[in-house]
Amino acid sequence: MIDSVEFRTFVNKRTSTFTIATGSSSSEENVIVKVVSGDEFGVGNANPTDVTKETVKSIEDFLSWVPKKIVGTDENEPEKLHQRLDSIAEGNTAAKAAVDIAIFDLLAKRCKQPLWKFLGGERDKMLTDMTIGIASKEVTVERAIKHTRSGFRALKIKVGLDLAEDIKRVAAVRDAVGERVELRVDANQGYSVDQAIKFCEEMHALGVVVVEQPVKAEDYKGLKKVTEASDVPIMADECVKSVFDARKVAREGIADMINIKLMKSAGICDAIMINRFAEAADMKTMVGCMGEIQVSIAAGLHFALSSNNVAFADLDSHFNIVDDPSSGLQFEDGYLITPKRPGLGIKTPLDD
Ligand SMILES: [Mg+2]
Repeated sequence: MIDSVEFRTFVNKRTSTFTIATGSSSSEENVIVKVVSGDEFGVGNANPTDVTKETVKSIEDFLSWVPKKIVGTDENEPEKLHQRLDSIAEGNTAAKAAVDIAIFDLLAKRCKQPLWKFLGGERDKMLTDMTIGIASKEVTVERAIKHTRSGFRALKIKVGLDLAEDIKRVAAVRDAVGERVELRVDANQGYSVDQAIKFCEEMHALGVVVVEQPVKAEDYKGLKKVTEASDVPIMADECVKSVFDARKVAREGIADMINIKLMKSAGICDAIMINRFAEAADMKTMVGCMGEIQVSIAAGLHFALSSNNVAFADLDSHFNIVDDPSSGLQFEDGYLITPKRPGLGIKTPLDD
């Protein structure tokens, strides 16, 4: 039986301003949620973004309603938990994710298993890429070299503001880091269909392994056209926020891969379903993140480890957050490694 729910908001600076095709940010807000049941508790986290149309205020408002709906209910029913959360309001997927993650942390801790194992996985670490925001060619190359020197074997380069400049930047990174570093590219909806097709041709020549969301989220037809024309696999991100979106993209062959983020899917329950739809349609997935601290990065990692259909991890935002209030993840030789503790295995200021 759930006894209590509490939350606390943390505001942290980024190590440097992060720019993508839709905007810039120099700090991140994260709301840690703690759910207590008897002598055990779990933690989760919400990070607001315009992708899910949430703010720290909307998350706090939503979470203030959660105790009324779930205190006194059985924590062993994640599906019913979501019905109760949905009865507060639709949307609010990051806020719902925080509660969902806390419940999974709690249940796995009860079983004395790390969450990845509780979810049926067979591996405890995964390569993650490091993302490089939009910057000049020189700064992009400088960052690419710095990240590969610190162990990253895959880089994700943000593009989408200037086609010609983007192609030059990715080519310069390829020159600087060589063939052995895996390059992924994310346009965050920045191109027209024709630009995207031209861009993908160039990316193919540079050995890029995936191009993410090249066109507007609502332009499913356009994305399908790019997917059909491109030799580089196309990944859907902003256009897949729910199980229904995933079903549409999988059924209609709109993209080759799906970027699953717990903040979009309202947590692990629906992330499992999205991944299943993808797998049934022969589509691999990636688990990505927003501007999150270690609590929900760990949740994303545990989820990614739970299914071999998750081919890529893009779980790197915590590396760029100053004074992350949560800790426990390790990074070694390009791999993000889960703590050897039950549940998420993450320590937070709400633990005591
Ligand atoms: Mg993306």
